[in-house]
Amino acid sequence: MSDTSMSQDAAQDPRSAGYAERYRAAMIPVFGTPQRVLVRGQGAKVWDDQGREYLDLLAGIAVNALGHAHPSLVAAMTKQAETLAHVSNFFATGPQIELAEKLLRLAQAPEGSGVFFANSGTEANEAAFKIARRTGRPRILALENSFHGRTMGALALTSKEAYRAPFAPLPGGVEWVPAGDVQALRSALADGDVAAVFAEPIQGEAGVLPLDPAYLLALRELTREHGALLILDEVQTGIGRTGRWFAHQAVPGVVPDVMTLAKGLGGGFPIGAAITFGPETTELLHAGQHGTTFGGNPLAAATSLAVLGTIEEEGLLAHVQATGEELAAAVLALGDPRVLGVRGAGLLRGIQLSEPVAPLVVRAALEAGFIINATGPYTLRLAPPLNIETEQLATFVAALPALLDAAVQAAAHEEEN
Ligand SMILES: *Cc1c(COP(=O)(O)O)cnc(C)c1O
Repeated sequence: MSDTSMSQDAAQDPRSAGYAERYRAAMIPVFGTPQRVLVRGQGAKVWDDQGREYLDLLAGIAVNALGHAHPSLVAAMTKQAETLAHVSNFFATGPQIELAEKLLRLAQAPEGSGVFFANSGTEANEAAFKIARRTGRPRILALENSFHGRTMGALALTSKEAYRAPFAPLPGGVEWVPAGDVQALRSALADGDVAAVFAEPIQGEAGVLPLDPAYLLALRELTREHGALLILDEVQTGIGRTGRWFAHQAVPGVVPDVMTLAKGLGGGFPIGAAITFGPETTELLHAGQHGTTFGGNPLAAATSLAVLGTIEEEGLLAHVQATGEELAAAVLALGDPRVLGVRGAGLLRGIQLSEPVAPLVVRAALEAGFIINATGPYTLRLAPPLNIETEQLATFVAALPALLDAAVQAAAHEEEN
């Protein structure tokens, strides 16, 4: 991350220019053109095709739980690939069964609980959506500002109109209630015809907005009272991200009926899961009513087992709690007037800015060798590897005021032109 290596302009490098053009020519343009081409990673660092080094404070959007190229992950993947990578769900495999058992243990799920493996977060939520439909009740509630994925069912649950509108008609019956409003929830559930309520314990894509613990508890109690399923989307918050295995475990008494996982579950290898709690929910989907070709294949399952095992062996839950608190405290201790607050838990953090310059801070950060993300004009999101070192986080905190300076200057410059 030396300043000299950072000062080159990637756009002027012929190799990089070639990639940008080829990317545009070969890819469906749903992501815009990426700012960098990455070629290698190690721990919390990645390198681009110009040899520039970055501290990865986003971890592939809360995915690379162990950072890049962790030896335990590489060893487990290599061994499994050499043994048996894929068999279809016509057959069972040891890694798949072990992973299901381990997840049920970590989730403290009761007897009669079960796991369905998918390949992504959106698919995990599709499974949960189908489980909800099987209750026979017509209505489904989700929260305002929710994000549950991009396939048609998960999209139907996502509150952002701009994501949904181009793809109408979507599966129907979904309504949104304002997060945190117990009264609105109570009246929406009152008729006893709600199949399920979907909620993220911390709304990650919306800007790292945590649900109030009292609201999460009300969600649990009111859904139980009215016979609706509580479906917690822990795709972003699960697998140690908040310093617990699952974010809802921070609130005693909150146990979901269904929990969905992905992102950190495979540490970079695609895998998702929907977990049902208790026999009544597990039995909603019958044989033949759902399926997947890849889901839970032995390569994915062995990789995930290595992620979970390493989180345990390296004591990462405690590490995430401690470094997360330190990070939030250090950012606040800067006393920078442009930082209004730090939200979130563990190593899922949103830095709230007073100016709408978050995307410009992201750009300045990239130039300075830090990968972060903006969830909107006012919020920076950090979701680094769970094993990131305190000193690495400190280099970002130290750089933040200068990044804010650069962003505010760039904004003023944009306004002039
Ligand atoms: C990322 C995310 C999803 C979608 O996961 P994909 O793997 O991108 O399909 C769903 N829910 C939440 C809360 C997420 O953060």
